[in-house]
Amino acid sequence: MNSAKGHSDRHNVVIIGGGIIGLSVGWQLLRRGAPVTLCERETAGRGASWVAAGMLAPHSEVGFEEEDFLKIGMESLSQFPQFLDELDEDSGQRIELDDRGTLIVGFHRDDTERIRRLYEFREHLGLPVTWLPGSAGRDIEPLLSPKITAAIWLPDDSQVNNRELMDALKTAFVKRGGVLKENTPAVSIVLRNGEVAGVATKNEDIDAAAVVIAAGCWSNCIDGIPDDIRPPVRPVKGQIVTLRMDTDYELGHVVRAPDVYLLPKDDGRLLVGATQEEMGFDVTPTAGPVMRLLERGWEAIPSIYDLAIEGIEVGLRPGSRDHEPLVGPSGIEGLFYATGHYRHGILLAPATAYGLVDMILEGTRPGLLEPFHPSRFSRSKRTR
Ligand SMILES: Cc1cc2nc3c(=O)[nH]c(=O)nc-3n(C[C@H](O)[C@H](O)[C@H](O)COP(=O)(O)OP(=O)(O)OC[C@H]3O[C@@H](n4cnc5c(N)ncnc54)[C@H](O)[C@@H]3O)c2cc1C
Repeated sequence: MNSAKGHSDRHNVVIIGGGIIGLSVGWQLLRRGAPVTLCERETAGRGASWVAAGMLAPHSEVGFEEEDFLKIGMESLSQFPQFLDELDEDSGQRIELDDRGTLIVGFHRDDTERIRRLYEFREHLGLPVTWLPGSAGRDIEPLLSPKITAAIWLPDDSQVNNRELMDALKTAFVKRGGVLKENTPAVSIVLRNGEVAGVATKNEDIDAAAVVIAAGCWSNCIDGIPDDIRPPVRPVKGQIVTLRMDTDYELGHVVRAPDVYLLPKDDGRLLVGATQEEMGFDVTPTAGPVMRLLERGWEAIPSIYDLAIEGIEVGLRPGSRDHEPLVGPSGIEGLFYATGHYRHGILLAPATAYGLVDMILEGTRPGLLEPFHPSRFSRSKRTR
């Protein structure tokens, strides 16, 4: 390995990937005193983490078999205030949480039954949730269509401006002394005597005591990882439309309707998202899915009809086989995964960062992250 810096680099942690996960883990390692180099193949913070809507919504997102996700999602949401305070301290940029809550709305009889099941499940879990029959949802959100037949009110789900968050994370990482190497694709991890020894990039080899693969949906594309522990992560295409709200247009809450959500941002954007498509690494915006998003959004909030379209963006979510993240040791000494966060990488950034940093520096296994241990996919069941 041709590192110029010599022996001290043996304590270096190298992160592959500068999305919300890589930057959060790297920045938190720096706060705990570990030297960190982050390799980003393009510009940090411009992958899925940039395109994302920024919902922090464990209560609306939890599915019927997903109570592990709910636990970690709620924990991560509760860690956000601390995470943002620390970020303010290190970056000088204050990111605010928007906690005005979420409405899930239904139309027609069968749709009302569908959301009633969602409501009963949340009530069974003891979550703060209110059933709003008929058009009572319009008392909370007057722009809702009069055709709404029922709604669920989830007051605790929040959102954040993920683009400001990415900029602040990048600043904090660099100000804390992290080495940020952009335009530096990691080609391969380097193993020595069965342990991780560094990362080979296009331009140089970097020595490392530990390596974290946080390369989003590309985490499966890095050479040098033995096949039996390769992270089973694939891209799941998401298209999202940005509308521009006029100054007097006041959509105050996140609204979720069948196959669509509408998310007002404090900078005047109104996001209408998002598709979920199995299209490999294709990032082309396409008419059909976008038309459907707008139509579904218009059914819920008819007044979006007149808003200007600002853009259509496409992001690739990192989806694992069970759609849950992989956070923890890979099975090779010194090699860690922080990937597969699928629809929830913004929400799960604090829990991933705090938990993984404990694992790397203290060797602990935080209980909340246990269900997301990468060994659940490993053919050889290595547990290191
Ligand atoms: C349309 C859409 C809406 C979403 N909405 C939400 C939401 O509301 N709430 C939420 O919590 N989540 C949401 N998500 C999911 C969220 O965006 C992802 O889970 C999260 O961004 C994943 O973060 P990441 O850091 O793993 O990946 P990314 O942000 O994609 O970052 C990975 C980085 O790794 C880099 N990289 C790849 N290969 C290499 C290599 N070989 N060497 C160096 N660098 C490499 C890439 O260039 C990229 O910058 C949404 C996603 C989409 C697409």
